Amino acid sequence: MAKGVWIVAEQRDGALRKVSFELASTARKLADQLGEEVGAVLCGSGVEAMAAELAKYGVDKVYVADNAALEPYTTDAHATAVAKIVKENDPAILFIGASAQGKDLSASLVGKLATGMATDCTDVKVADGKLLAVRPMYAGKCFGEVVIDAFPQMASLRPNVFPIVECAKAGEVVKFDAGLGEAKTKVAEILKEAAGKIDVAEANIIVSGGRGMKGPEGYGILEDLAGLLGAAVGASRAAVDAGWRPQADQVGQTGKVVSPNLYIACGISGAIQHLAGMSSSKYIVAINKDAEAPIFARADYGIVDDLFKVVPALTQEVKKLLA
Ligand SMILES: Cc1cc2nc3c(=O)[nH]c(=O)nc-3n(C[C@H](O)[C@H](O)[C@H](O)COP(=O)(O)OP(=O)(O)OC[C@H]3O[C@@H](n4cnc5c(N)ncnc54)[C@H](O)[C@@H]3O)c2cc1C
Repeated sequence: MAKGVWIVAEQRDGALRKVSFELASTARKLADQLGEEVGAVLCGSGVEAMAAELAKYGVDKVYVADNAALEPYTTDAHATAVAKIVKENDPAILFIGASAQGKDLSASLVGKLATGMATDCTDVKVADGKLLAVRPMYAGKCFGEVVIDAFPQMASLRPNVFPIVECAKAGEVVKFDAGLGEAKTKVAEILKEAAGKIDVAEANIIVSGGRGMKGPEGYGILEDLAGLLGAAVGASRAAVDAGWRPQADQVGQTGKVVSPNLYIACGISGAIQHLAGMSSSKYIVAINKDAEAPIFARADYGIVDDLFKVVPALTQEVKKLLA
């Protein structure tokens, strides 16, 4: 019988991604309710040292595939390795991050495991011994509860939504053979973002600009504020389509889904497709000269004024606070 709550840990450049700790903490909570163990699959090259770190977040057993062919990440190698160890151990629940890598991996994995999956979940519970996954639907207009009638019950969890809880554990490390055949894909080149640039998908604070920025040069004031706050700069699709910002910065239904602690929307009207990408942010601040802009209906704090006046004033106040 399928048993245990497992996660697929995500690592890059020699470090575990934050979402791995969110997955582990969530798995621990559910495993305690079910009276079961938490397992984690960790794949890569030279990753064994990271296993102990996962245990701190409640993982009982870390299954490690340490193999040069698992670095850098490719879908087929990682999906093959994870599917193999999952099939051998038959966990009841399998969580994966709804990050770019997690989304890529889970699509292949769910096929290899011939199971069902709830994507981009913002809550997960146990009901009658089964996983109940909650996910936003219709661009965040409502939430659906999903039950999966196959094992493992797979769900991808939206990054930055689930709390990280440390619990001193001494998890066991179990090495396994990834069972890789000849590689079907090879990474030819990795194009990295400029050093120091924070990815909107992982940022704790995002200062985002839309068509109201008037042009690419308008973003200078957002960069200044973001620099002080240690924030990423995001953009609406209108700004990206106009060529003012790179596509990687786009927030929304066809951009990235973000859940920072603070989202400052400047000159963004709040179209449903934009809200779909940022409405699970903890605090939303909107700066817009139109008091009727829909973004104010979702904002915790709103400033109705010209952003070119408000943002520099805000930056000055933050400077004073930080001095
Ligand atoms: C299938 C589909 C997918 C989409 N996906 C996305 C997506 O992923 N992300 C996304 O963002 N959109 C997406 N869109 C587009 C979306 O519908 C909106 O067109 C877009 O979000 C509008 O961007 P905006 O708010 O920057 O521009 P606008 O709607 O033009 O709003 C600009 C705002 O700036 C304010 N403003 C102007 N000047 C100032 C000033 N000086 N000071 C203060 N405020 C000012 C205005 O009052 C206005 O509210 C999608 C649309 C479709 C159909």
